[in-house]
Amino acid sequence: MNLRKAGWLALISVVVLLSVLPVPDFWITQLNYVGIASLAVLGLVLLTGIGGLTSFGQAAFVGIGAYTSAYLTLNAGLSPWLTLWIGLGLTAMCAWMVGWITLRMSGHYLPLATLAWGLSLYYTMGNLQALGKYDGLLDVPGLSLFGWEIGQERAFFLMTWALVLLAALCMLHLLDSRVGRAIRSLKSGSIMAESMGIDTLRFKIGIFIISALLASVSGWLYAHFQRSVNPSPFGVNIGIEYLFMAVLGGAGYVWGAITGTLVTKLMADQLQVLLPALIGTSGSYETIVFGVLLVLTLKYAPDGIWAFVDRKLPKFARAVDWRDAAVLPHRTMPAPGEAVLQAIDLRKEFGGLVAVNDISFSVQAGQIVGLIGPNGAGKSTTFNLITGVLGLTSGRVYFRGEDISGQPSREIAKRGISRTFQHVRMIPDMTVLENVALGAHLRGTRGALSATLRLDRHEEQSLLREAEQQLKRVGMGDYLFELAGNLAMGQQRLLEIARALCNDPALLLLDEPAAGLRHQEKLALADVLRQLKGEGLSILLVEHDMDLVMQVTDRIVVMEFGTHLIEGTPDEIQASPAVQAAYLGTEH
Ligand code: ADP
Ligand code: MG
Repeated sequence: MNLRKAGWLALISVVVLLSVLPVPDFWITQLNYVGIASLAVLGLVLLTGIGGLTSFGQAAFVGIGAYTSAYLTLNAGLSPWLTLWIGLGLTAMCAWMVGWITLRMSGHYLPLATLAWGLSLYYTMGNLQALGKYDGLLDVPGLSLFGWEIGQERAFFLMTWALVLLAALCMLHLLDSRVGRAIRSLKSGSIMAESMGIDTLRFKIGIFIISALLASVSGWLYAHFQRSVNPSPFGVNIGIEYLFMAVLGGAGYVWGAITGTLVTKLMADQLQVLLPALIGTSGSYETIVFGVLLVLTLKYAPDGIWAFVDRKLPKFARAVDWRDAAVLPHRTMPAPGEAVLQAIDLRKEFGGLVAVNDISFSVQAGQIVGLIGPNGAGKSTTFNLITGVLGLTSGRVYFRGEDISGQPSREIAKRGISRTFQHVRMIPDMTVLENVALGAHLRGTRGALSATLRLDRHEEQSLLREAEQQLKRVGMGDYLFELAGNLAMGQQRLLEIARALCNDPALLLLDEPAAGLRHQEKLALADVLRQLKGEGLSILLVEHDMDLVMQVTDRIVVMEFGTHLIEGTPDEIQASPAVQAAYLGTEH
Protein backbone atom coordinates (compact mmCIF):
# COMPACT_ATOMS: atom_id res chain seq x y z
CA MET A 1 0.00 0.00 0.00
CA ASN A 2 1.42 3.37 -0.88
CA LEU A 3 1.37 6.50 1.23
CA ARG A 4 -1.45 8.05 -0.71
CA LYS A 5 -3.75 5.12 -0.01
CA ALA A 6 -2.66 5.09 3.64
CA GLY A 7 -3.57 8.77 3.90
CA TRP A 8 -7.04 8.13 2.56
CA LEU A 9 -7.54 5.19 4.85
CA ALA A 10 -6.54 7.33 7.82
CA LEU A 11 -9.01 10.05 6.83
CA ILE A 12 -11.86 7.61 6.39
CA SER A 13 -11.02 6.00 9.72
CA VAL A 14 -11.11 9.36 11.49
CA VAL A 15 -14.57 10.09 10.08
CA VAL A 16 -15.92 6.66 10.98
CA LEU A 17 -14.35 6.75 14.45
CA LEU A 18 -15.77 10.19 15.18
CA SER A 19 -19.22 8.90 14.32
CA VAL A 20 -19.05 5.86 16.61
CA LEU A 21 -17.00 7.17 19.55
CA PRO A 22 -18.84 9.04 22.33
CA VAL A 23 -17.95 12.46 20.93
CA PRO A 24 -20.30 15.07 22.44
CA ASP A 25 -23.23 15.90 20.17
CA PHE A 26 -22.17 19.53 20.20
CA TRP A 27 -19.00 18.67 18.31
CA ILE A 28 -20.79 16.44 15.84
CA THR A 29 -23.15 19.32 15.05
CA GLN A 30 -20.19 21.67 14.63
CA LEU A 31 -18.48 19.24 12.29
CA ASN A 32 -21.68 18.88 10.31
CA TYR A 33 -21.66 22.64 9.68
CA VAL A 34 -17.99 22.42 8.76
CA GLY A 35 -18.66 19.61 6.29
CA ILE A 36 -21.55 21.47 4.68
CA ALA A 37 -19.52 24.65 4.25
CA SER A 38 -16.44 22.71 3.08
CA LEU A 39 -18.26 21.71 -0.08
CA ALA A 40 -18.90 25.33 -1.05
CA VAL A 41 -15.33 26.30 -0.16
CA LEU A 42 -14.00 23.37 -2.18
CA GLY A 43 -15.75 24.88 -5.18
CA LEU A 44 -14.09 28.22 -4.48
CA VAL A 45 -10.66 26.59 -4.28
CA LEU A 46 -11.17 25.23 -7.78
CA LEU A 47 -12.58 28.48 -9.13
CA THR A 48 -10.52 31.11 -7.32
CA GLY A 49 -7.43 29.46 -5.89
CA ILE A 50 -6.66 27.21 -8.82
CA GLY A 51 -8.54 28.82 -11.72
CA GLY A 52 -7.73 32.39 -10.67
CA LEU A 53 -11.33 33.62 -10.98
CA THR A 54 -12.37 35.51 -7.86
CA SER A 55 -16.01 35.12 -6.96
CA PHE A 56 -17.96 36.75 -4.15
CA GLY A 57 -21.10 35.05 -5.35
CA GLN A 58 -20.52 31.51 -4.09
CA ALA A 59 -23.11 31.84 -1.31
CA ALA A 60 -25.75 32.66 -3.89
CA PHE A 61 -25.32 29.23 -5.48
CA VAL A 62 -25.58 27.65 -2.02
CA GLY A 63 -28.85 29.56 -1.76
CA ILE A 64 -30.16 28.22 -5.05
CA GLY A 65 -29.55 24.64 -3.91
CA ALA A 66 -31.10 25.29 -0.50
CA TYR A 67 -34.16 27.22 -1.65
CA THR A 68 -34.95 24.90 -4.56
CA SER A 69 -34.97 21.87 -2.32
CA ALA A 70 -36.80 23.59 0.55
CA TYR A 71 -39.48 25.03 -1.73
CA LEU A 72 -40.12 21.88 -3.72
CA THR A 73 -40.17 19.50 -0.75
CA LEU A 74 -42.57 21.82 1.09
CA ASN A 75 -44.84 22.87 -1.76
CA ALA A 76 -44.72 20.03 -4.25
CA GLY A 77 -44.15 17.26 -1.74
CA LEU A 78 -41.17 15.98 -3.71
CA SER A 79 -38.50 13.80 -2.12
CA PRO A 80 -35.28 15.65 -1.20
CA TRP A 81 -33.41 12.99 -3.18
CA LEU A 82 -35.20 14.25 -6.27
CA THR A 83 -35.02 17.96 -5.45
CA LEU A 84 -31.26 17.63 -5.05
CA TRP A 85 -31.01 16.97 -8.79
CA ILE A 86 -33.51 19.67 -9.67
CA GLY A 87 -31.44 22.10 -7.60
CA LEU A 88 -28.27 20.97 -9.36
CA GLY A 89 -29.93 21.44 -12.75
CA LEU A 90 -31.15 24.91 -11.86
CA THR A 91 -27.75 25.84 -10.45
CA ALA A 92 -25.95 24.60 -13.56
CA MET A 93 -28.28 26.65 -15.75
CA CYS A 94 -27.78 29.82 -13.70
CA ALA A 95 -24.02 29.29 -13.50
CA TRP A 96 -23.80 28.71 -17.21
CA MET A 97 -25.75 31.88 -17.94
CA VAL A 98 -23.89 34.06 -15.44
CA GLY A 99 -20.57 32.52 -16.47
CA TRP A 100 -21.17 32.97 -20.15
CA ILE A 101 -21.76 36.68 -19.63
CA THR A 102 -19.22 37.48 -16.93
CA LEU A 103 -16.25 35.21 -17.57
CA ARG A 104 -15.21 37.13 -20.65
CA MET A 105 -14.51 40.03 -18.33
CA SER A 106 -11.03 40.43 -17.00
CA GLY A 107 -9.37 42.00 -13.99
CA HIS A 108 -11.65 43.50 -11.37
CA TYR A 109 -14.77 43.34 -13.53
CA LEU A 110 -15.32 39.70 -12.78
CA PRO A 111 -15.30 39.99 -8.95
CA LEU A 112 -17.57 43.03 -9.30
CA ALA A 113 -19.94 41.08 -11.50
CA THR A 114 -20.07 38.23 -8.96
CA LEU A 115 -20.82 40.80 -6.23
CA ALA A 116 -23.69 42.15 -8.28
CA TRP A 117 -24.95 38.65 -8.94
CA GLY A 118 -24.71 37.70 -5.27
CA LEU A 119 -26.55 40.82 -4.18
CA SER A 120 -29.32 40.50 -6.71
CA LEU A 121 -29.96 36.88 -5.80
CA TYR A 122 -29.98 37.75 -2.11
CA TYR A 123 -32.62 40.42 -2.61
CA THR A 124 -34.62 38.16 -4.88
CA MET A 125 -34.73 35.50 -2.15
CA GLY A 126 -35.65 38.13 0.39
CA ASN A 127 -38.45 39.69 -1.60
CA LEU A 128 -40.28 36.78 -3.17
CA GLN A 129 -43.56 36.09 -1.41
CA ALA A 130 -43.41 32.43 -2.45
CA LEU A 131 -40.03 32.05 -0.69
CA GLY A 132 -41.34 33.60 2.52
CA LYS A 133 -39.45 36.88 2.04
CA TYR A 134 -36.85 37.52 4.76
CA ASP A 135 -38.50 35.00 7.12
CA GLY A 136 -37.73 32.24 4.65
CA LEU A 137 -39.25 28.78 4.59
CA LEU A 138 -39.83 26.84 7.80
CA ASP A 139 -40.43 23.18 8.59
CA VAL A 140 -38.33 21.87 5.75
CA PRO A 141 -38.34 18.06 6.06
CA GLY A 142 -35.17 16.28 7.16
CA LEU A 143 -33.50 13.62 5.08
CA SER A 144 -34.56 10.02 5.32
CA LEU A 145 -33.56 6.87 3.51
CA PHE A 146 -36.17 4.12 2.93
CA GLY A 147 -38.26 5.48 5.77
CA TRP A 148 -35.28 5.73 8.12
CA GLU A 149 -34.56 9.24 9.42
CA ILE A 150 -31.00 10.39 8.83
CA GLY A 151 -31.54 13.08 11.42
CA GLN A 152 -29.08 15.83 12.34
CA GLU A 153 -26.41 13.89 14.14
CA ARG A 154 -24.15 10.95 13.49
CA ALA A 155 -25.77 9.53 10.36
CA PHE A 156 -25.88 13.00 8.86
CA PHE A 157 -22.27 13.47 9.88
CA LEU A 158 -21.24 10.30 8.07
CA MET A 159 -23.17 11.20 4.96
CA THR A 160 -21.87 14.78 4.83
CA TRP A 161 -18.26 13.84 5.33
CA ALA A 162 -18.50 10.97 2.87
CA LEU A 163 -19.66 13.59 0.36
CA VAL A 164 -16.83 15.97 1.29
CA LEU A 165 -14.18 13.26 0.92
CA LEU A 166 -15.72 12.08 -2.33
CA ALA A 167 -15.74 15.62 -3.69
CA ALA A 168 -12.11 16.09 -2.63
CA LEU A 169 -11.10 12.83 -4.32
CA CYS A 170 -12.92 13.74 -7.52
CA MET A 171 -11.26 17.13 -7.58
CA LEU A 172 -7.80 15.67 -7.01
CA HIS A 173 -8.43 13.32 -9.92
CA LEU A 174 -9.69 16.14 -12.08
CA LEU A 175 -6.68 18.34 -11.38
CA ASP A 176 -4.22 15.55 -12.15
CA SER A 177 -5.25 15.17 -15.78
CA ARG A 178 -5.30 16.78 -19.20
CA VAL A 179 -8.31 18.88 -18.22
CA GLY A 180 -6.70 19.65 -14.87
CA ARG A 181 -3.59 21.04 -16.51
CA ALA A 182 -5.77 23.21 -18.71
CA ILE A 183 -7.62 24.48 -15.62
CA ARG A 184 -4.35 25.20 -13.82
CA SER A 185 -3.11 27.13 -16.84
CA LEU A 186 -6.02 29.60 -16.70
CA LYS A 187 -4.49 31.68 -13.93
CA SER A 188 -1.51 32.77 -16.00
CA GLY A 189 -3.54 34.55 -18.65
CA SER A 190 -4.99 33.13 -21.82
CA ILE A 191 -2.27 33.77 -24.42
CA MET A 192 -0.12 30.74 -23.69
CA ALA A 193 -3.05 28.42 -23.00
CA GLU A 194 -4.84 29.41 -26.20
CA SER A 195 -1.60 28.91 -28.13
CA MET A 196 -1.55 25.34 -26.81
CA GLY A 197 -5.04 24.88 -28.23
CA ILE A 198 -6.90 25.32 -24.95
CA ASP A 199 -10.32 26.93 -25.21
CA THR A 200 -9.90 29.04 -22.09
CA LEU A 201 -13.42 30.45 -21.97
CA ARG A 202 -14.87 26.96 -22.07
CA PHE A 203 -12.72 25.83 -19.17
CA LYS A 204 -13.54 28.97 -17.20
CA ILE A 205 -17.26 28.37 -17.63
CA GLY A 206 -16.64 24.71 -16.78
CA ILE A 207 -15.01 25.40 -13.42
CA PHE A 208 -17.60 28.07 -12.67
CA ILE A 209 -20.31 25.46 -13.13
CA ILE A 210 -18.49 22.74 -11.14
CA SER A 211 -17.85 25.21 -8.35
CA ALA A 212 -21.52 26.26 -8.35
CA LEU A 213 -22.65 22.62 -8.28
CA LEU A 214 -20.58 21.96 -5.17
CA ALA A 215 -22.18 25.02 -3.59
CA SER A 216 -25.59 23.73 -4.56
CA VAL A 217 -24.99 20.38 -2.85
CA SER A 218 -23.85 22.32 0.19
CA GLY A 219 -27.12 24.31 0.11
CA TRP A 220 -29.19 21.16 -0.21
CA LEU A 221 -27.50 19.63 2.84
CA TYR A 222 -27.92 22.89 4.73
CA ALA A 223 -31.65 23.16 4.04
CA HIS A 224 -32.37 19.63 5.26
CA PHE A 225 -29.98 19.87 8.19
CA GLN A 226 -31.16 23.23 9.42
CA ARG A 227 -34.76 22.36 8.45
CA SER A 228 -35.38 25.96 7.48
CA VAL A 229 -33.95 28.48 5.05
CA ASN A 230 -33.84 32.26 5.00
CA PRO A 231 -31.75 34.62 2.88
CA SER A 232 -29.10 35.60 5.45
CA PRO A 233 -26.72 32.60 5.05
CA PHE A 234 -26.67 33.20 1.30
CA GLY A 235 -25.72 36.88 1.25
CA VAL A 236 -22.59 38.43 -0.15
CA ASN A 237 -21.01 38.70 3.31
CA ILE A 238 -21.16 34.92 3.56
CA GLY A 239 -19.67 34.72 0.08
CA ILE A 240 -16.77 36.76 1.43
CA GLU A 241 -16.56 34.42 4.43
CA TYR A 242 -16.20 31.45 2.07
CA LEU A 243 -13.37 33.26 0.31
CA PHE A 244 -11.77 33.93 3.67
CA MET A 245 -11.92 30.23 4.55
CA ALA A 246 -10.34 29.30 1.23
CA VAL A 247 -7.52 31.85 1.60
CA LEU A 248 -6.82 30.96 5.22
CA GLY A 249 -6.73 27.23 4.51
CA GLY A 250 -4.83 27.56 1.25
CA ALA A 251 -6.80 28.50 -1.84
CA GLY A 252 -4.48 26.58 -4.13
CA TYR A 253 -5.02 23.25 -2.38
CA VAL A 254 -7.97 20.87 -2.26
CA TRP A 255 -7.21 20.13 1.40
CA GLY A 256 -6.85 23.85 2.02
CA ALA A 257 -10.62 24.17 1.59
CA ILE A 258 -11.36 21.73 4.39
CA THR A 259 -8.58 23.06 6.63
CA GLY A 260 -9.73 26.65 6.20
CA THR A 261 -13.36 25.83 6.87
CA LEU A 262 -12.53 23.72 9.91
CA VAL A 263 -10.25 26.34 11.46
CA THR A 264 -12.59 29.25 10.75
CA LYS A 265 -15.79 27.59 11.95
CA LEU A 266 -14.27 26.19 15.13
CA MET A 267 -12.47 29.41 15.90
CA ALA A 268 -15.57 31.53 15.25
CA ASP A 269 -17.48 29.37 17.63
CA GLN A 270 -14.92 29.72 20.42
CA LEU A 271 -14.43 33.44 19.87
CA GLN A 272 -18.18 34.10 19.93
CA VAL A 273 -18.24 32.92 23.52
CA LEU A 274 -14.81 34.04 24.60
CA LEU A 275 -14.57 37.59 23.28
CA PRO A 276 -17.82 39.02 24.72
CA ALA A 277 -16.85 37.49 28.06
CA LEU A 278 -13.40 39.08 27.89
CA ILE A 279 -14.63 42.45 26.73
CA GLY A 280 -17.67 42.44 28.94
CA THR A 281 -20.31 43.38 26.39
CA SER A 282 -22.01 41.28 23.75
CA GLY A 283 -21.28 41.71 20.07
CA SER A 284 -19.84 40.00 17.02
CA TYR A 285 -16.25 40.72 17.87
CA GLU A 286 -15.03 37.61 16.09
CA THR A 287 -15.61 39.39 12.76
CA ILE A 288 -13.00 41.96 13.74
CA VAL A 289 -10.55 39.23 14.70
CA PHE A 290 -11.13 37.53 11.36
CA GLY A 291 -10.53 40.79 9.51
CA VAL A 292 -7.17 41.20 11.22
CA LEU A 293 -6.38 37.54 10.69
CA LEU A 294 -7.09 37.80 6.98
CA VAL A 295 -4.73 40.73 6.58
CA LEU A 296 -2.02 38.87 8.50
CA THR A 297 -2.57 35.71 6.45
CA LEU A 298 -2.32 37.60 3.19
CA LYS A 299 0.86 39.28 4.37
CA TYR A 300 2.72 36.41 6.02
CA ALA A 301 1.20 33.21 4.66
CA PRO A 302 -0.44 34.11 1.37
CA ASP A 303 -0.63 30.46 0.36
CA GLY A 304 -2.58 29.54 3.47
CA ILE A 305 -2.18 26.96 6.21
CA TRP A 306 -2.09 23.96 3.93
CA ALA A 307 0.99 25.27 2.13
CA PHE A 308 2.98 24.54 5.30
CA VAL A 309 1.60 21.03 5.53
CA ASP A 310 2.13 20.43 1.82
CA ARG A 311 5.81 21.29 2.11
CA LYS A 312 6.21 18.64 4.80
CA LEU A 313 4.38 15.92 2.90
CA PRO A 314 6.47 13.37 1.04
CA LYS A 315 6.32 14.10 -2.66
CA PHE A 316 4.65 11.21 -4.37
CA ALA A 317 6.06 10.07 -7.65
CA ARG A 318 3.36 10.17 -10.29
CA ALA A 319 0.62 7.61 -9.89
CA VAL A 320 0.88 6.80 -13.56
CA ASP A 321 3.64 4.82 -15.12
CA TRP A 322 3.91 5.54 -18.82
CA ARG A 323 6.75 3.26 -19.84
CA ASP A 324 4.41 0.99 -21.79
CA ALA A 325 2.11 3.75 -22.99
CA ALA A 326 0.91 3.83 -26.56
CA VAL A 327 2.71 6.28 -28.83
CA LEU A 328 0.47 9.13 -29.95
CA PRO A 329 -0.33 9.23 -33.66
CA HIS A 330 1.61 11.76 -35.72
CA ARG A 331 0.24 14.18 -38.23
CA THR A 332 1.32 13.78 -41.85
CA MET A 333 4.13 16.17 -42.56
CA PRO A 334 4.09 18.36 -45.68
CA ALA A 335 5.98 16.97 -48.68
CA PRO A 336 9.47 18.43 -49.20
CA GLY A 337 9.23 21.61 -51.22
CA GLU A 338 5.59 22.28 -50.26
CA ALA A 339 5.07 25.87 -49.14
CA VAL A 340 4.23 25.45 -45.47
CA LEU A 341 3.84 29.10 -44.59
CA GLN A 342 3.11 32.03 -46.84
CA ALA A 343 2.94 35.43 -45.20
CA ILE A 344 1.59 38.01 -47.60
CA ASP A 345 1.78 41.74 -46.85
CA LEU A 346 1.45 41.31 -43.08
CA ARG A 347 0.74 44.61 -41.44
CA LYS A 348 0.26 45.58 -37.82
CA GLU A 349 -0.33 49.08 -36.55
CA PHE A 350 -0.36 49.97 -32.87
CA GLY A 351 -2.02 53.37 -32.92
CA GLY A 352 0.29 55.46 -35.05
CA LEU A 353 3.19 52.97 -34.88
CA VAL A 354 3.57 50.59 -37.80
CA ALA A 355 5.22 47.62 -36.05
CA VAL A 356 5.01 45.34 -39.09
CA ASN A 357 4.93 47.07 -42.43
CA ASP A 358 3.62 44.89 -45.28
CA ILE A 359 6.02 42.01 -44.73
CA SER A 360 5.97 39.03 -47.11
CA PHE A 361 7.99 35.82 -46.93
CA SER A 362 7.47 32.09 -47.08
CA VAL A 363 8.76 28.92 -45.47
CA GLN A 364 9.10 25.66 -47.43
CA ALA A 365 8.70 22.23 -45.91
CA GLY A 366 11.82 21.06 -44.12
CA GLN A 367 13.39 24.52 -44.12
CA ILE A 368 14.73 26.56 -41.26
CA VAL A 369 14.14 30.22 -41.97
CA GLY A 370 15.75 32.86 -39.81
CA LEU A 371 13.91 36.08 -39.06
CA ILE A 372 16.43 38.58 -37.81
CA GLY A 373 16.65 42.28 -37.17
CA PRO A 374 17.46 44.72 -34.38
CA ASN A 375 15.29 44.97 -31.27
CA GLY A 376 11.96 46.54 -32.06
CA ALA A 377 12.13 45.49 -35.71
CA GLY A 378 8.78 43.71 -35.41
CA LYS A 379 9.87 40.05 -35.27
CA SER A 380 7.83 39.05 -32.23
CA THR A 381 4.85 40.97 -33.56
CA THR A 382 5.17 39.01 -36.82
CA PHE A 383 5.07 35.79 -34.77
CA ASN A 384 1.96 37.03 -32.99
CA LEU A 385 0.30 37.81 -36.31
CA ILE A 386 1.06 34.37 -37.73
CA THR A 387 -0.13 32.54 -34.61
CA GLY A 388 -3.28 34.60 -34.12
CA VAL A 389 -2.20 36.12 -30.82
CA LEU A 390 -2.66 39.54 -32.45
CA GLY A 391 -5.14 40.47 -35.17
CA LEU A 392 -3.77 41.58 -38.52
CA THR A 393 -4.30 45.18 -39.58
CA SER A 394 -4.09 43.83 -43.10
CA GLY A 395 -2.45 41.00 -45.03
CA ARG A 396 -3.00 37.26 -45.22
CA VAL A 397 -1.38 34.15 -43.79
CA TYR A 398 -1.55 30.80 -45.56
CA PHE A 399 -0.55 27.58 -43.82
CA ARG A 400 -0.24 24.49 -46.00
CA GLY A 401 -2.34 26.24 -48.62
CA GLU A 402 -5.14 27.20 -46.23
CA ASP A 403 -5.97 30.78 -45.31
CA ILE A 404 -5.56 31.03 -41.53
CA SER A 405 -5.70 34.83 -41.27
CA GLY A 406 -7.92 35.97 -38.43
CA GLN A 407 -8.28 32.51 -36.90
CA PRO A 408 -7.99 32.29 -33.10
CA SER A 409 -4.65 30.96 -31.93
CA ARG A 410 -6.07 27.66 -30.71
CA GLU A 411 -7.38 26.91 -34.22
CA ILE A 412 -3.97 27.70 -35.63
CA ALA A 413 -2.33 25.40 -33.09
CA LYS A 414 -4.76 22.67 -34.12
CA ARG A 415 -3.62 22.95 -37.73
CA GLY A 416 -0.03 22.36 -36.70
CA ILE A 417 1.75 25.60 -35.86
CA SER A 418 3.50 25.66 -32.48
CA ARG A 419 5.48 28.43 -30.93
CA THR A 420 7.60 29.59 -28.05
CA PHE A 421 7.53 33.04 -26.51
CA GLN A 422 10.29 35.59 -26.25
CA HIS A 423 9.16 36.22 -22.67
CA VAL A 424 8.74 32.69 -21.32
CA ARG A 425 5.16 31.80 -20.42
CA MET A 426 4.84 28.80 -18.17
CA ILE A 427 3.10 27.77 -14.95
CA PRO A 428 5.75 28.12 -12.24
CA ASP A 429 3.97 25.94 -9.67
CA MET A 430 3.48 23.03 -12.05
CA THR A 431 6.19 20.46 -12.69
CA VAL A 432 8.28 20.67 -15.84
CA LEU A 433 6.62 17.51 -17.12
CA GLU A 434 3.11 18.88 -16.57
CA ASN A 435 4.02 22.18 -18.21
CA VAL A 436 5.27 20.36 -21.26
CA ALA A 437 2.25 18.05 -21.32
CA LEU A 438 0.13 21.19 -21.76
CA GLY A 439 1.55 21.31 -25.26
CA ALA A 440 0.00 17.92 -25.99
CA HIS A 441 -3.47 19.15 -25.03
CA LEU A 442 -4.81 18.84 -28.57
CA ARG A 443 -3.58 15.28 -28.89
CA GLY A 444 -5.90 14.09 -26.14
CA THR A 445 -9.67 14.09 -26.03
CA ARG A 446 -10.61 12.95 -22.54
CA GLY A 447 -12.80 15.39 -20.64
CA ALA A 448 -13.59 16.28 -17.05
CA LEU A 449 -15.85 13.33 -16.36
CA SER A 450 -13.35 10.71 -17.56
CA ALA A 451 -10.66 12.41 -15.52
CA THR A 452 -12.80 12.43 -12.39
CA LEU A 453 -13.62 8.75 -12.82
CA ARG A 454 -10.03 7.96 -13.79
CA LEU A 455 -11.09 6.55 -17.16
CA ASP A 456 -8.44 8.68 -18.84
CA ARG A 457 -5.35 6.86 -17.61
CA HIS A 458 -4.33 5.27 -20.93
CA GLU A 459 -4.48 8.57 -22.72
CA GLU A 460 -2.81 10.33 -19.79
CA GLN A 461 0.09 7.88 -19.94
CA SER A 462 0.55 8.55 -23.62
CA LEU A 463 0.47 12.33 -23.12
CA LEU A 464 3.03 12.17 -20.31
CA ARG A 465 5.19 9.81 -22.29
CA GLU A 466 5.19 12.26 -25.16
CA ALA A 467 6.08 15.10 -22.78
CA GLU A 468 8.97 13.09 -21.36
CA GLN A 469 10.24 12.23 -24.86
CA GLN A 470 10.25 15.85 -25.96
CA LEU A 471 11.96 16.94 -22.75
CA LYS A 472 14.64 14.33 -23.27
CA ARG A 473 15.09 15.47 -26.84
CA VAL A 474 15.93 19.02 -25.74
CA GLY A 475 18.21 17.72 -23.00
CA MET A 476 15.85 18.33 -20.08
CA GLY A 477 15.29 14.69 -19.13
CA ASP A 478 16.68 15.24 -15.62
CA TYR A 479 14.14 17.87 -14.65
CA LEU A 480 10.81 16.12 -15.18
CA PHE A 481 9.52 16.57 -11.64
CA GLU A 482 11.17 19.89 -10.87
CA LEU A 483 8.81 22.83 -10.45
CA ALA A 484 9.06 24.93 -13.59
CA GLY A 485 9.50 28.05 -11.49
CA ASN A 486 12.81 26.71 -10.16
CA LEU A 487 14.45 26.46 -13.59
CA ALA A 488 17.15 28.77 -14.87
CA MET A 489 16.19 31.03 -17.77
CA GLY A 490 17.84 28.89 -20.43
CA GLN A 491 16.11 25.77 -19.14
CA GLN A 492 12.78 27.56 -19.21
CA ARG A 493 13.33 28.23 -22.89
CA LEU A 494 14.09 24.57 -23.52
CA LEU A 495 10.90 23.71 -21.64
CA GLU A 496 8.98 25.92 -24.03
CA ILE A 497 10.53 24.20 -27.05
CA ALA A 498 9.61 20.77 -25.66
CA ARG A 499 6.09 22.03 -24.98
CA ALA A 500 5.75 23.33 -28.52
CA LEU A 501 6.98 20.01 -29.92
CA CYS A 502 4.35 18.11 -27.95
CA ASN A 503 1.73 19.47 -30.33
CA ASP A 504 3.41 17.51 -33.14
CA PRO A 505 3.69 20.66 -35.24
CA ALA A 506 4.46 20.96 -38.93
CA LEU A 507 5.77 24.46 -38.36
CA LEU A 508 7.64 25.59 -35.29
CA LEU A 509 8.11 29.26 -34.43
CA LEU A 510 10.97 29.91 -32.01
CA ASP A 511 11.35 33.39 -30.54
CA GLU A 512 14.94 33.83 -29.29
CA PRO A 513 15.35 30.23 -28.07
CA ALA A 514 19.06 30.60 -27.36
CA ALA A 515 18.79 33.66 -25.12
CA GLY A 516 20.17 32.66 -21.73
CA LEU A 517 21.69 29.38 -22.95
CA ARG A 518 25.34 28.56 -22.33
CA HIS A 519 27.66 27.77 -25.22
CA GLN A 520 27.31 23.99 -24.89
CA GLU A 521 23.55 24.31 -24.63
CA LYS A 522 23.49 26.38 -27.81
CA LEU A 523 25.42 23.70 -29.67
CA ALA A 524 22.97 21.10 -28.39
CA LEU A 525 20.06 23.31 -29.47
CA ALA A 526 21.53 23.61 -32.96
CA ASP A 527 21.68 19.80 -33.12
CA VAL A 528 18.05 19.51 -32.04
CA LEU A 529 16.97 22.01 -34.69
CA ARG A 530 18.81 20.10 -37.41
CA GLN A 531 17.31 16.85 -36.20
CA LEU A 532 13.80 18.34 -36.30
CA LYS A 533 14.42 19.60 -39.78
CA GLY A 534 15.53 16.10 -40.73
CA GLU A 535 12.14 14.84 -39.57
CA GLY A 536 10.38 17.16 -42.02
CA LEU A 537 9.54 19.94 -39.59
CA SER A 538 9.78 23.54 -40.79
CA ILE A 539 11.10 26.15 -38.43
CA LEU A 540 10.90 29.93 -38.31
CA LEU A 541 13.64 31.15 -36.03
CA VAL A 542 14.01 34.56 -34.42
CA GLU A 543 17.43 34.73 -32.81
CA HIS A 544 20.14 37.23 -31.98
CA ASP A 545 22.97 34.70 -31.77
CA MET A 546 24.36 35.08 -35.29
CA ASP A 547 26.58 31.99 -35.09
CA LEU A 548 23.54 29.84 -34.40
CA VAL A 549 21.45 31.53 -37.09
CA MET A 550 24.17 31.21 -39.72
CA GLN A 551 24.79 27.56 -38.78
CA VAL A 552 21.28 26.22 -38.93
CA THR A 553 19.20 28.33 -41.31
CA ASP A 554 18.53 27.74 -45.00
CA ARG A 555 17.24 31.23 -45.63
CA ILE A 556 17.20 34.44 -43.67
CA VAL A 557 14.72 37.31 -43.73
CA VAL A 558 16.04 40.56 -42.32
CA MET A 559 13.62 43.09 -40.83
CA GLU A 560 14.25 46.65 -39.83
CA PHE A 561 11.69 49.09 -38.39
CA GLY A 562 8.89 46.75 -39.38
CA THR A 563 9.95 46.47 -43.01
CA HIS A 564 11.42 43.66 -45.04
CA LEU A 565 15.02 44.73 -45.62
CA ILE A 566 16.53 41.82 -47.50
CA GLU A 567 16.19 38.05 -47.84
CA GLY A 568 18.69 35.37 -48.87
CA THR A 569 20.94 32.49 -47.87
CA PRO A 570 23.13 32.91 -44.79
CA ASP A 571 26.12 33.63 -47.05
CA GLU A 572 24.28 36.29 -49.00
CA ILE A 573 23.04 37.93 -45.82
CA GLN A 574 26.50 37.94 -44.25
CA ALA A 575 27.91 39.58 -47.36
CA SER A 576 25.21 42.24 -47.60
CA PRO A 577 26.43 45.73 -46.72
CA ALA A 578 22.87 46.84 -45.98
CA VAL A 579 22.53 44.16 -43.31
CA GLN A 580 25.87 44.94 -41.80
CA ALA A 581 24.88 48.55 -41.48
CA ALA A 582 21.39 47.90 -40.19
CA TYR A 583 21.78 44.89 -38.01
CA LEU A 584 25.16 43.33 -37.51
CA GLY A 585 26.65 46.76 -36.97
CA THR A 586 24.33 47.52 -34.11
CA GLU A 587 24.41 44.10 -32.51
CA HIS A 588 28.11 43.29 -32.59
P1 ADP B 1 11.17 42.60 -31.96
O1 ADP B 1 10.60 41.30 -31.55
O2 ADP B 1 11.70 42.58 -33.34
O3 ADP B 1 12.20 43.08 -30.99
P2 ADP B 1 8.53 43.62 -31.49
O4 ADP B 1 7.71 42.90 -32.48
O5 ADP B 1 8.48 43.11 -30.10
O6 ADP B 1 10.03 43.69 -31.98
O7 ADP B 1 8.11 45.13 -31.46
C1 ADP B 1 7.98 45.91 -32.63
C2 ADP B 1 7.49 47.28 -32.27
O8 ADP B 1 6.12 47.20 -31.90
C3 ADP B 1 8.23 47.90 -31.10
O9 ADP B 1 8.38 49.28 -31.36
C4 ADP B 1 7.29 47.67 -29.94
O10 ADP B 1 7.44 48.67 -28.99
C5 ADP B 1 5.92 47.74 -30.61
N1 ADP B 1 4.94 46.89 -29.96
C6 ADP B 1 5.01 45.55 -29.80
N2 ADP B 1 3.92 45.08 -29.19
C7 ADP B 1 3.14 46.15 -28.94
C8 ADP B 1 1.86 46.32 -28.32
N3 ADP B 1 1.16 45.29 -27.85
N4 ADP B 1 1.36 47.58 -28.24
C9 ADP B 1 2.05 48.64 -28.72
N5 ADP B 1 3.24 48.55 -29.32
C10 ADP B 1 3.79 47.32 -29.43
MG1 MG C 1 11.02 40.16 -29.98
